[in-house]
Amino acid sequence: MKRRNFIKKTAAGGGAYAIIGPSILANVKSTGEEEAWFDRPMRWAQLTLVENDPGQFDPDFWLSYFKRIHADAACLSAGGVVAYYPTDVPLHHRSAWLGNSDPFGYLVKGCRKMNMSIIGRTDPHATWQNVYDTHPDWIAITANGEKRRHWANPELWVTCCLGPYNLEFMTKVHDEIMERYQLDGIFSNRWAGSGICYCEHCVRDFKAFSGLDLPQSRSRLDPTYNKYSEWRTNRLKEIWILWDNVIRRRKSSARFIPNGFPDKVVTGQLSDIVFTDHQARRGSILPWSNGKVAKELRASIGMKPLGCIFSVGVEEQYRWNDSVQSEAEIRVWVAEGTANGMRAWFTKFSGTLYDKRWLDIVDKIYQVHYRNERYLKNTASMARVGLVFSEQIRNYGGEAWQQRRGDHGQGDVPCTDRRPYAF
Ligand SMILES: [Zn+2]
Repeated sequence: MKRRNFIKKTAAGGGAYAIIGPSILANVKSTGEEEAWFDRPMRWAQLTLVENDPGQFDPDFWLSYFKRIHADAACLSAGGVVAYYPTDVPLHHRSAWLGNSDPFGYLVKGCRKMNMSIIGRTDPHATWQNVYDTHPDWIAITANGEKRRHWANPELWVTCCLGPYNLEFMTKVHDEIMERYQLDGIFSNRWAGSGICYCEHCVRDFKAFSGLDLPQSRSRLDPTYNKYSEWRTNRLKEIWILWDNVIRRRKSSARFIPNGFPDKVVTGQLSDIVFTDHQARRGSILPWSNGKVAKELRASIGMKPLGCIFSVGVEEQYRWNDSVQSEAEIRVWVAEGTANGMRAWFTKFSGTLYDKRWLDIVDKIYQVHYRNERYLKNTASMARVGLVFSEQIRNYGGEAWQQRRGDHGQGDVPCTDRRPYAF
């Protein structure tokens, strides 16, 4: 059977998608029924604003760049640590440069005119002194009992993501963004916490769940830590469902899209669209590592649309995002994602550009994707061999042989890729 015929036949049968189906949240009630958009976008553009961008960056430059590269979907900074629209949610920090402007709304309007799908980006992992003063219990606590300063910005405090900061405050933020802008979804970065938090809510809620005190270490040999992992995963699932419901009530086709979840099976159950946040090589990571994360997710999400977030910036230890990587580096990373059925999503920090060398590189890649879109859609796995791995080992395996579980996969992936079978 020729490859095209094979793809046609398997696609007609529904392929893996028929097994997984739409997310289990599909029957949540909402105000109206809109058409599903998840499978449409093929070329994503992410612009992550920084606090001093409003009034200084040129949104029209970005809109014209999106048009030039045929981007058909955008992820734009909306709120969380900093709001890039005139929010009215109490304690939601407006950019100090915002004035009377609404750069987020301006970009949304421009993207909508180009018929792009649009999701808003929020980042709940940190907050400001006035939030600390008003709700000290929203701030993460270290094992030493101290409130946790942000590791990179001493003006900020790290938030507890498993308590009322996410459950109450960020729920209001997501509701307001959806009410005002009617987006296709909200994508939350760093929404799942930054290590074990010892705040009063985590102490009390973990005790109620397990009867135990919070673990003092992250040793996977410690049964208390294993119990903590279970509780954390459950709590994050609760938050996902809560935000997803709020979002769907404003627009039935919109979704909450988490940037990562600790359980790929649950990810497959709750998602209609998924993105990998494995942005570039660092250290000794090999190029096929990007394809490996796609293969792992296919096992649980079936053929649901999968996007590959790639950074044009440098992802090494000194992560200086105003600079950019070489063309060869960006190309090989994106090509691995595309070869594994992922849709490209470039991400750029800062609306003000200091190094423009990446613009033509991404343009060239996206032009090829645009011209060949019909071959990049409606694909199906032709795997004949499977490689089994356990996510449980990552969470619970503490023995020496269970450490660095990824190493085996790193070796097996190129072997299977370069033979006439894949997984
Ligand atoms: Zn906490």
